Formats: sequence, structure tokens, C-alpha cells
Amino acid sequence: MATRASLSALSSINNPWPLPSIYYTTKPYRLLFSCRSISSSPRLRSRRFPSPVASMPSYDKELAAAKKAASLAARLCQIVQKELGQSDVQSKADKSPVTVADYGSQALVSLVLNLELPSASFSLVAEEDSGDLRKDGAQETLKRITNLVNDTLSTDGTYNIVVSEEAVLAAIDSGKSEGGPSGQHWVLDPIDGTKGFLRGDQYAIALALLDEGRVVLGVLACPNLPLMPINSVDEQYHENPVGCLFSAKIGDGAEMQLLNGSSPTKIHVSSTENPADASFFESFEAAHSLHDLSSAIAEKLGVQAPPVRIDSQAKYGALARGDGAIYLRLPHKGYHEKIWDHAAGCIVVTEAGGVVTDAAGNNLDFSKGRFLDLDTGIIVTNRTLMPSLLNAVQEAIREKNQAASLL
Ligand code: AMP
Ligand code: MG
Repeated sequence: MATRASLSALSSINNPWPLPSIYYTTKPYRLLFSCRSISSSPRLRSRRFPSPVASMPSYDKELAAAKKAASLAARLCQIVQKELGQSDVQSKADKSPVTVADYGSQALVSLVLNLELPSASFSLVAEEDSGDLRKDGAQETLKRITNLVNDTLSTDGTYNIVVSEEAVLAAIDSGKSEGGPSGQHWVLDPIDGTKGFLRGDQYAIALALLDEGRVVLGVLACPNLPLMPINSVDEQYHENPVGCLFSAKIGDGAEMQLLNGSSPTKIHVSSTENPADASFFESFEAAHSLHDLSSAIAEKLGVQAPPVRIDSQAKYGALARGDGAIYLRLPHKGYHEKIWDHAAGCIVVTEAGGVVTDAAGNNLDFSKGRFLDLDTGIIVTNRTLMPSLLNAVQEAIREKNQAASLL
């Protein structure tokens, strides 16, 4: 076995993890610090010597790793949500909330991806960074996060590993990648819908993989989403079993399974052709999407049902299995959408037969870095409804802008 010193040297070049602070046994030790040269990496090797028949990678191993990472992160989040204390919640510089579960989830996903898919070129674009955890007074919080990460890793039973506080900080900061159009990049929102998480409502762990600028797989772990369809008039849905895992791989369709097991079943978006029968999703938080604009759009389309307002990309998951037919996301002027808020949801919906565009009808482009470069808003529906939805959205936006210019 390689010595700590030799591995430490390798790790500084090839790995985001600072070796001296991680303690573990042989197997994960090798996994975390395995160092593949460029010529021995199957992906890079195939680029330098392209095979005559170009075939798309299967991404099977990557999808399995993503499902495992998101499921474990969901387990950590569930524990925190059950016994959330005041000290578990902090405020970020932009005043948005962040919890020990956001940090723990990000660290855990990063660690699990590295354990499952050791790679010299690991790249992660994720929401959180460790800046606040490195400040004076954050020691207790960091300790709590580290304990949560270790407890959750140990529940899996396949990892004989204990990570240190330094390793947790490094795992969180491995999410600082800028992404972009070339190579592979994991994209993570460790808790999408933190405000919903704090209310005890919906949230999601959203993880996707970009390859050469395209989303090639996505996973949404939604610990509070009922297995049965969300029905806006059914107030009893909280009594249904909860905890859904959505997953999709490019060209392979989308699936859903229970978070705590069960085999996956294929899902498909609603086939509703008549907007009058279509219910629509939007953000619970009015600050995240213009509720008055979506209600004007719904009226134009003749949608009868009231909006279903839930937090997070659970909306994409619910739409992908046909609970509702439309999702409208119409942020206030000047807001820039981040790729981790849409990458996983987007592939789950498109692989379930749906369409995701901006308000100009353009596909979302995830190759531009950490942000999406969009015309106003994001709209999601099935193929049949998209043309009339797009018309209604554009008309409503025009009318809103005209009204504003008269003021
Ligand atoms: P949702 O739960 O659908 O409302 O979306 C939650 C996501 O909205 C969070 O992960 C944030 O990244 C994002 N967000 C934060 N502020 C805004 C904003 N002003 N407008 C739109 N989205 C926002
Ligand atoms: Mg988010």
C-alpha cells in the first residue's frame, strides 16, 4: 500500500482532498486517492484515439453513483429536518438561509461521487462554499456537519471511512468549479428549496452530470414528496407514503422509485391536450416567481385549477410523472438562474417526454458556466401544449411590459 506521504503528494495534484486530515481503511483510501494518468483514463483515451464507430457512453456507473449519493444526502437532510435547532440555520451574505444539512449534503455527495467514481478530473459545480464555516465561532457547526456526514456514511455499510473536519471543508469547496462547454461536470444543489426545507415542506437534492455542455443524467431526491400524485384539491396527500427518487439518463427515459428502496418504474408527462384540464406548478415563494403573471397566463389558456405551489425541483419531478401539466417559473427582473436549480429537473422532464424552454422558446443551455443565460423565465409542459403555452406566456409578458411603460 502507498504511504501517507506519497499519497499526500499525489493528492495535492490530482485530488481536491487534503490527505493528512482523512482517516480511513485500505479500500476507500485507494479509491479516494487513486491517480489515473491521462492515457489510462478511458474517456480521455477515447478522445485521443477515436474509435471508428463513435458510440455514446452508457453513463450507467455514473447514474448509479448519482442515485447513491443523492439518496444518502437525502437521509442526512431528513435527520436534520426532524430535529432542526436554531443553531442549524445561518444566513448567507445574500440573506438567503443555509443549514447544516445544505453543507452536509454537499460534502456527502462530493465524497460519495469520489468514492464511487475515482477520477483525476473530478469537477463539481455546486451551490455552497465553506467560507462561513472557516470563520471564528463556526467550530461547533462544522463539528455537527462532520458528525452528520460520518453518521450517514456509516449507515450505508459499504464505506469503512471516517472523514475529518478538514476533509468536509475540502469536499464542500470541491463544488467551486465553473463548469462550461467541455469535459464532464457534476452539477449539484445540495438542498434545493431550503426555505421549504425550513418550513417542513418540499425540498430536493438535485444532482446532474454535464458532458461536453449537455446534461446527460439527472437525479432528484425528494424526501417529502408523496408517492401518490399531488392533487391540489386533496388536502390529505400528506398521509400518503413520502420520499421519491427521480432519475433520468439521456436517451433512456425517466424513472421514479421510493427513496428507501423499491424498483424504478418508468414515468411520463401528462398527455393533457386541453389547457382547461391542465393544472400548473409554480414556486411557493412569491419572491422566486411572479404569481400574478402566471395567473394571467393561466387565464389566457383557460386553465381552471388553482396553481399548485411547492418548493424546489420536486415540481419538475411531479410534472414528469404527470401530476400537473405545466410549470411556470417567472422570476423578478434581473434574477440570474443558476444551473443547479434546473439541470437535474430538466433532464428528468425531457426524458419523460416533456419540453423545457425559456420564455422565447429556446432550450436551456447549461454550457455557459454557473449561470443560465436566459430570456425571461422558464416554462415546462408536454409537446402538445407547448405552442399555446408559449404564445400565452409571450402575450402576457408583452402586456405586462406595456402596462409598466404606461406608469
Ligand atoms: P423554488 O423552490 O422553486 O422557489 O426555487 C428555489 C430556488 O430558487 C433556490 O434554490 C434559489 O437558488 C432560487 N432563488 C433564490 N432567489 C431567487 C429569486 N429571487 N428568484 C428566483 N429564484 C430564486
Ligand atoms: Mg436551489
